[in-house]
Amino acid sequence: TKWVYSFGGGASEGAADMRNLLGGKGANLAEMSNLGLPVPPGFTITTEVCTHYYDNGQTYPADLEAQVEAAIEAVEGVVGKTFGDPKNPLLVSVRSGARASMPGMMDTVLNLGLNDETVEGLAALGGDARFAWDSYRRFVQMYSDVVLGVDHGFFEDVLESFKEERDFALDTELSAEDWQAIVARYKEIVAEETGEEFPQDPKTQLWGAVGAVFSSWMNQRAITYRRLHAIPASWGTAVNVQAMVFGNMGETSATGVAFTRNPSTGAKEFYGEFLINAQGEDVVAGIRTPQSLTRAAREAAGEEKPSMEEAMPAAFAQLVEIKDRLEAHYRDMQDIEFTVEQGRLYMLQTRSGKRTAKAALKIAVDMASEGLITEKEAVSRVEPSSLDQLLHPMLDPDAERDVLASGLPASPGAASGKIVFTADEAEAAKTRGEQVILVRVETSPEDIHGMHAAEGILTTRGGMTSHAAVVARGMGRPCVSGAGGLVVDYAKKTLSAMGRTLHEGEIVTIDGTTGQVMVGEVKTIQPELTGDFAHLMTWADKVRRMKVRANAETPLDARTAREFGAEGIGLCRTEHMFFDEDRIIAVREMILAESEEGRRHALSRLLPMQRDDFIELFTIMKGLPVTIRLLDPPLHEFLPHTDAEIAEVARAAGVPADALRRRANELSETNPMLGHRGCRLGVTYPEIYEMQARAIFEAAVEAARLTGEPVEPEVMIPLVGFRAELDFLKSRVDAVAQDVMKENGAEIRYLVGTMIELPRAAIRASEIAETAEFFSFGTNDLTQTTLGISRDDAARFLTEYERRGLIPHDPFVTIDQDGVGELVRIGVERGRTAREGLKCGICGEHGGDPASIAFCEGVGLDYVSCSPFRVPIARLAAAQATL
Ligand code: ADP
Ligand code: MG
Ligand code: MG
Repeated sequence: TKWVYSFGGGASEGAADMRNLLGGKGANLAEMSNLGLPVPPGFTITTEVCTHYYDNGQTYPADLEAQVEAAIEAVEGVVGKTFGDPKNPLLVSVRSGARASMPGMMDTVLNLGLNDETVEGLAALGGDARFAWDSYRRFVQMYSDVVLGVDHGFFEDVLESFKEERDFALDTELSAEDWQAIVARYKEIVAEETGEEFPQDPKTQLWGAVGAVFSSWMNQRAITYRRLHAIPASWGTAVNVQAMVFGNMGETSATGVAFTRNPSTGAKEFYGEFLINAQGEDVVAGIRTPQSLTRAAREAAGEEKPSMEEAMPAAFAQLVEIKDRLEAHYRDMQDIEFTVEQGRLYMLQTRSGKRTAKAALKIAVDMASEGLITEKEAVSRVEPSSLDQLLHPMLDPDAERDVLASGLPASPGAASGKIVFTADEAEAAKTRGEQVILVRVETSPEDIHGMHAAEGILTTRGGMTSHAAVVARGMGRPCVSGAGGLVVDYAKKTLSAMGRTLHEGEIVTIDGTTGQVMVGEVKTIQPELTGDFAHLMTWADKVRRMKVRANAETPLDARTAREFGAEGIGLCRTEHMFFDEDRIIAVREMILAESEEGRRHALSRLLPMQRDDFIELFTIMKGLPVTIRLLDPPLHEFLPHTDAEIAEVARAAGVPADALRRRANELSETNPMLGHRGCRLGVTYPEIYEMQARAIFEAAVEAARLTGEPVEPEVMIPLVGFRAELDFLKSRVDAVAQDVMKENGAEIRYLVGTMIELPRAAIRASEIAETAEFFSFGTNDLTQTTLGISRDDAARFLTEYERRGLIPHDPFVTIDQDGVGELVRIGVERGRTAREGLKCGICGEHGGDPASIAFCEGVGLDYVSCSPFRVPIARLAAAQATL
């Protein structure tokens, strides 16, 4: 088997389409050198070696070593240096790289191959002993930290006290001799901490680093990251070994990161940061403040230090040319890493850049307009759930702001919450249902879970490409980074600036769009849904097959749904209309009535109110389909609880309070979710459903008269298990329709259908469909009844199931395709055998979940219905499901 793929020196054994085998980084390094770009040569050890490693008790394939040796020789040939040669040493970096970029993995080790002898050779070659010893100390620290597990704090302490003793402020003040002394001290620490000398043999160093990459695949950080991003453990990671180039060789050397377009706004502008006389890690670590790439960016930010465009015009011009080629080649916005060694530019990485939802939208629409991609591709480029960020609040420009400090606008959107200082506390607060802002000096991959739990992230150090910024943008969390005016004291748990001190638990607001940090909560407003958003939605609607409806019952929800492009109402939960103050008393009176007569009395008071509700709804939805579910929840949800409530109902109904209390007790149930609810209410109290049917039909007549558009209501009977239930209730609804038509001399077109939310209904769908004129899959209840899990009690154990990987995701969020989904499939198939072209939709929470929507497309549903705010997400997801 071929385990090792070489790249660089003009040709490569790999290519971009081999990312499964070579990982993203390796595949793109190969592709870039195939394009003839200046990539330092190297090789990639494949992901199959990682799989082999874990399948075989953490051992390598027998022939791996020989292949690695050969690949090193090839690199030596290209650069004209030899690994371990004291006079002319080849140094390499060892870099992990999975298929999907994974911040949980091992950090890159740079300058590998240095030891007490080769450091002298490097000094002689570069003509600079200081550079050589600086590289060596970086290597010892990095290798000891990531491979040998020696905490980097030890090394930082040594450096700090060394500088203090000599009154040095900056690292740049240290001489070659100083670094040499520090390296000696570092090696002592390694010996003390590990009981062994720092490895001097470059081959030992290399295999140590390779082993560390593979072991890091199973570290806790990586496992957590994979779980959060649904990345299977079986993918494995690749290892890239690459000849070093040096950005720390003086003032004509530099290192940087860049995006071909602005990853925050999507604007078509070259965007990034670089540092002169530095090595890779320095830019993202936030140790020094990086400089802008372009003159325009520098001027806009009012920075003093020159931009790359000004400081290194030749290398900059070449970089611009390369970034244009890369974007045109990959046909997507690229995130690139580069190093300049004594004026010569080298490319070290390219990948599709992470971006905010806003940027994703703008870039997709712009690229389609530029003709770089098609409209369909544009539709596929935007993550549907990320639209959530755009539909969510921004700070009200008119609201008062008590600005405490300003940082970088690292990830847009506004968020308020209580201050917490650790990721664990953020997570704990989230489980208590509190909203928090995670405040850190800087973040690291260990903080990911806390960043997830927080509403927003605030750091006092680090640039636009710092860990916090990149991860927050990926997650869609607002983030302000590098707010240098703020001081965090972890020990005292305080955040202070300008003489003011905030404590843990106090509320702050951050605005990731401007970088402002404010004391207290600031009012927010909804964004506009025009421009790029509208464009993309139009394109999505062109390719989409399924309709998208909304779950709505209030006029406000219905209007929002229309604004977001809903094509009807898929679920109007009539009981929500019963809770308003003016009617809850009548509802309670109806429920508690001992006789049919008492019930009818209360119902007659409810009828006009329900009718008005429906007239309004039909008017707003003007000609679009509206599915109305008749009363569904257990009656006890409406029962009066307090003495005052009981007294009030007793007065309205004209019965003694004691009798009422007794009746309320009678109605209470042990397990209401499986109790007297749904169509069972209709069977025991047909007059309730009759009243609702009458309200619907009378409203249909009236709304048609008002709007001039015919109204075709879809009456939905919930929780049917037996066809006979539906037969019994449908005949009554039909009778009411006949009456209303006769009374008004009007024709009403309507459908009577059912919710499929019990396993029996799905299985007996063919006979139920003989009566039902449409199906709506109520997958919330269908999930509860299929899995035997109560949604309200599930959190206690399902999170544990997810943590242990027993289930891939929460079945109440993404449909359980194999179980619940199978019942949906059966229901659709059997239903349509009995009634050709039976209209089928879904109205559970899953109707707004992109993965579940893809499933719905697969089983041939006619529409999905979701909450109004998720309608755009569903439109985009439904479009993507057809691609
Ligand atoms: P990450 O996956 O965290 O981005 P990388 O493997 O890309 O890690 O390495 C981080 C940085 O290390 C790179 O951006 C680059 O600046 C530096 N680096 C990696 N390999 C080399 C190399 N061969 N020569 C010079 N710098 C390198
Ligand atoms: Mg990188
Ligand atoms: Mg239900």
